[in-house]
Amino acid sequence: MNLKIVVVLTLCLVWCGTVNAEWFRRVDDGIMGTRIVVELWDEDGVHANQAIDAVMDEMRRIDESMSVYKSTSEVSKVNAEAAQHPVKLTKELFDLLQQAVEFSKITDGAFDITYASVGYMYDFRKHIKPTEAQIAQALPGVNYRHLIFDQKNQTIKFFQPGMRIDLGGIAKGYSVDCGIHILQARGIKHALVTAGGDSRIIGDRFGKPWVVGIRHPDDANRVIAKIPLVDTALSTSGDYERFFDEDGVRYHHIIDPKTGHSASKVRSATIIASTATRTDGLSKTAFVLGPEKAMEIYNRLDDVDAILVTPDGTVLYSKGLEAPK
Ligand code: ADP
Ligand code: MG
Repeated sequence: MNLKIVVVLTLCLVWCGTVNAEWFRRVDDGIMGTRIVVELWDEDGVHANQAIDAVMDEMRRIDESMSVYKSTSEVSKVNAEAAQHPVKLTKELFDLLQQAVEFSKITDGAFDITYASVGYMYDFRKHIKPTEAQIAQALPGVNYRHLIFDQKNQTIKFFQPGMRIDLGGIAKGYSVDCGIHILQARGIKHALVTAGGDSRIIGDRFGKPWVVGIRHPDDANRVIAKIPLVDTALSTSGDYERFFDEDGVRYHHIIDPKTGHSASKVRSATIIASTATRTDGLSKTAFVLGPEKAMEIYNRLDDVDAILVTPDGTVLYSKGLEAPK
């Protein structure tokens, strides 16, 4: 074969591959009580759909093990037994709980999976909230320092009765990271995985960044900022996600571990960092600590950026992001 034919053939193969490649996208509303979106670029439809299936299966697996709404989950077993005796954990859950405690330390206790000791008494869909007396009684159970880990035996024990954990503030971010690892292992170079407010992106879109919009807290159709992103994760928490209003007070799903009430010092917080576990673990902080203190923390972390919307609608940017002129 002469050189010219080889060149033409090679070009054709590259070109044909490119024209056949396309974006594949699937949305699933039936896992983890939230919306899962997987979008990826692939040259082979079968390969693409198998990869998406594998991500959805992974999300289901994590839900089975970490949901407090499933009585058979590993987390439910911890909640049922850890006040009485040490509960042996899978390495996966043990490691994630350790990470959760790290986030508690970084955020001055604003992120605390034991919030659930009070948090379980709220049902935002049914407009149910605990009384002040119920909160006061349950509040001593909220304290991440009262999670007693045994590294050697990989167990957890609660320091006192009445404690509960809930991974609703970190498991979605974690599942997004796991989904991304699955895609990477299958050779996919351009993709987006989203679970609720938590997303991670690999690669770009045709040499251009992915553009992610941050919505207005009171209007789902209004975008208050657009951020170009490549190879990163982001999480947005908002007081408009799961809530009810009563007597002028908004009761919503982010709980201040110190008071047991909804934390309302910002309306929304968007965090950008390398993994979705990290962005998820940090996106609750500003609600609890307020914009100034939270920004101090975010600005101290070199790999983290933040966009906050305060109660009066002001949009604040961490020092790594320029405010649009
Ligand atoms: P999404 O579920 O859409 O990703 P968030 O990332 O904002 O939403 O997480 C909200 C969830 O975090 C709540 O539903 C609850 O399960 C959990 N949570 C609430 N308050 C706290 C807290 N102070 N620390 C850790 N987790 C929390
Ligand atoms: Mg989240």
